[in-house]
Amino acid sequence: MRVLVVGAGIIGLATAARLAQRGDDVLVVEKEPDLAQHQTGRNSGVIHSGLYYAPGSLKARLGAAGARSMPEFARAQGVDVETCGKLVVAVDDAEVPRLQVLAERGAANGVDVRMIGPAEARDYEPEVSCVAALRVESTGIVDYRGVCQALAAQVLDAGGEIRYGLAFRGARTEGTQVRAWLDAAGSTDRQDVAADAVVVCGGLQADRLATSCGVDPGARIVPFRGEYFELGPAASTRVRGLIYPVPDPRFPFLGVHLTKMIGGGVHAGPNAVLALAREGYRRRDVSVTDMADALSWPGLWRLGARNWAPGAREVARSMSAALFAQSLSRLVPGITPDDLVPAPAGVRAQALKRDGSLVDDFLLRTRPRQVHVINAPSPAATASLEIAKHIESTLDAAVAA
Ligand SMILES: Cc1cc2nc3c(=O)[nH]c(=O)nc-3n(C[C@H](O)[C@H](O)[C@H](O)COP(=O)(O)OP(=O)(O)OC[C@H]3O[C@@H](n4cnc5c(N)ncnc54)[C@H](O)[C@@H]3O)c2cc1C
Repeated sequence: MRVLVVGAGIIGLATAARLAQRGDDVLVVEKEPDLAQHQTGRNSGVIHSGLYYAPGSLKARLGAAGARSMPEFARAQGVDVETCGKLVVAVDDAEVPRLQVLAERGAANGVDVRMIGPAEARDYEPEVSCVAALRVESTGIVDYRGVCQALAAQVLDAGGEIRYGLAFRGARTEGTQVRAWLDAAGSTDRQDVAADAVVVCGGLQADRLATSCGVDPGARIVPFRGEYFELGPAASTRVRGLIYPVPDPRFPFLGVHLTKMIGGGVHAGPNAVLALAREGYRRRDVSVTDMADALSWPGLWRLGARNWAPGAREVARSMSAALFAQSLSRLVPGITPDDLVPAPAGVRAQALKRDGSLVDDFLLRTRPRQVHVINAPSPAATASLEIAKHIESTLDAAVAA
């Protein structure tokens, strides 16, 4: 079958590789000049273990499977990967019950987690400060851009095609065909393409692309910028692997952490502040359309009203390297603003419902012969090969319907 896949991030490429390898005739279209230009190429590079997610959810199931399949894939393809393990640290007694809950959740998800004391934690990370910690052996780091290059090569080897600089503008199912329209970057000349099915993996544009196909996404994508620093040479020798704080269960993605990077060095971050443009990585990047979309969504105001205090803390930390360093020195004492070197930011696509609740789990929407990935936040890079399998079976059902 002829399948049009939209988006050359890790989800689009993993799906395209899977479909091409089973014999489908695959065309991937990507509006940027290269792959992995947005979330996939600007993330923390962590292979998550599956610790945090609600048992039974897609995130828990596909995340835990991805924690096994992603390092296997990377090793087989010669992509840099390391299973270095991580520590989640409770810095005071008040955090220990939440650490315990996390340990139980991890165990329910089949993750190999151990509660350890401060002395053992210091065997792994000599400079860490904690009263207790969780040790997770299966967490790793990987070059996700390299993973995407390997997936793109698989698409091409299996006879598929990837066209860059070509934007998808919408599609309609007409009987047993899907008609899609595309235009090349900088051109308004519309090209029509016919396919048997379409899979749309548009990341930060997911809601708009679904709407352009007549599909109600059920949520709006609100962009949150995640700012990073790199530790300078002296401070980076003080961190061996990955050190995370105990997450707030209401906002598991908040909380800056220290992450050894696969290419060397230690990243610190990210925080999470409302981005003024969906694909804007500098503070000064503003898109009036993106801002209007975010601010006109009642869900954002409801989220803000309920959570103004943690939101304000994130904004303050965004404005002050001293506060950023203070958060990090809760984990490793003595990190100062002088140790922080600004590093490129990422923007998370967070699907937000009208009532102000975050869409927590991975979310697909279907129409006959169409699959739309609406919400694929972290750990979707880790779980990408598993999400691709899930998309494949969802697509087959959408074609048979
Ligand atoms: C700051 C940050 C840190 C993260 N850390 C981790 C981590 O450590 N581990 C982990 O597992 N996950 C992490 N994640 C999450 C992970 O990066 C994402 O879940 C994953 O990359 C999503 O992949 P994607 O393909 O859906 O989206 P993207 O990578 O954003 O790709 C979507 C693609 O669609 C293209 N596109 C959009 N509109 C069109 C159009 N009209 N026509 C053609 N193409 C279009 C875009 O240009 C883009 O290339 C992190 C995310 C962020 C932002």
